Amino acid sequence: MKAFTYERAATAEAAAAMAAGRAGARYIAGGTNLLDLMKIQVEAPEHLVDINRIPGLDRIEPTPEGGLRIGTLVRNGDLAADPQVRSRYPVLARSLLAGATGQLRNKATTGGNLLQRTRCYYFYDPSKPCNKRRPGSGCAAIGGFNRIHAVVGANEQCIAVHPSDMAVAMRALDAQVETLQPQGGRRVIPIADFHRLPGDTPQQDANLQPGELITAVTLPPPPPGVQLYRKVRDRASYAFALVSVAAIVDAQAGTIRQARMAFGGLAHQPWRVAAAEDALAGRRADAAAFDAAADAVLQGARGQGHNDFKIPLTRRVLAGVLAEAAGV
Ligand code: SF4
Repeated sequence: MKAFTYERAATAEAAAAMAAGRAGARYIAGGTNLLDLMKIQVEAPEHLVDINRIPGLDRIEPTPEGGLRIGTLVRNGDLAADPQVRSRYPVLARSLLAGATGQLRNKATTGGNLLQRTRCYYFYDPSKPCNKRRPGSGCAAIGGFNRIHAVVGANEQCIAVHPSDMAVAMRALDAQVETLQPQGGRRVIPIADFHRLPGDTPQQDANLQPGELITAVTLPPPPPGVQLYRKVRDRASYAFALVSVAAIVDAQAGTIRQARMAFGGLAHQPWRVAAAEDALAGRRADAAAFDAAADAVLQGARGQGHNDFKIPLTRRVLAGVLAEAAGV
C-alpha cells in the first residue's frame, strides 16, 4: 500500500473543502471496496477524507412527498432491515440482502455501494491491460475470460459490468442522488444519469465531479404493484450477479397495467429500457408479452464468448419474474 495522508471531517461542508482541489483525494466511509483496491494499488489516493463521523448522514427519514431520504452513511444492513424499506420498498430490501455478506453489509454504506468498482478480474490484476485501471492500455477481457462481463452497452474500450445489487433496485425505483460539490453547491442527480456507459472514458464509472460528495439518496413514493428482486449467481451467497432483475409490476386479472424493470450483470450501469416497459403496458401477461419485453431489453446484445449464456438467461429470468409478479 502506498503512503497517504488522512483527515476526519466533522461536517459535509468540511469534507468537501478537504477534498477540494486535490486530485488525489478520496472519501472513505465503509471502505469495503476502496481498502481492498488500495492494498493491491489499483487505487492509490494521496489523501483520504473520512466521513464516518459526520452527524446526520446516517439517517433514514420520510420526505414531504411521501418518499424516503437515505443518508449516504446508512449501512446496507440497516437499510435492508428498516421497517419502511421492508414494507414499502421490498425490492430494495431484497436487493441489499442479495449482496455481499452480513459482515460486509454491516460496514458498507449507501453512497459507497453506488460507487463500488467493477469486479472484472483484469481490473484487479495490475499485470494485465485494463482501460478502466490504466486508460489506453487495452482491455484484457476482450478475447480473455469474460464469463461475468457485459452483453449490452459495452464497447471495445471496456466490457465490464456494474456490480451493485442495490443500485439496480434504486434504478427501478427512480431514486435521486443528492450531492455536495467541492465549491459548496448542491445538486440532485437522477439515478438514470448517475452511472455511465464506458464510452471513451471507461475509467469514470459515475457522473460525479472530482471532490463531489454523495450526501443522500432519495426515493419517491413507491409505485403501485408487486416488487421483486431476482438474482442469478454462481453460488447462493457472497457472489455477484450474472443476471439480476428488479421488477415492479402492477397487474390485475392477468393483465399488466405497467411494469418497471432494471437489470444487473448486463451492462456498465444498471440497465433499464423504456421500450421494454412500453411493450408490457396494457398487455396480457403471457409468453408473447414477455418475449417482446426481453427483445427490447436485449436489443443489440452481443456476447463475448464465455458470457453468451447471459442472453438466453436474461429472457428466462425476466419471464419468470414477470409471471410471478403478475400471478400467472
Ligand atoms: Fe478493464 Fe473494463 Fe476490460 Fe475489465 S472489461 S479489463 S475493467 S477495460
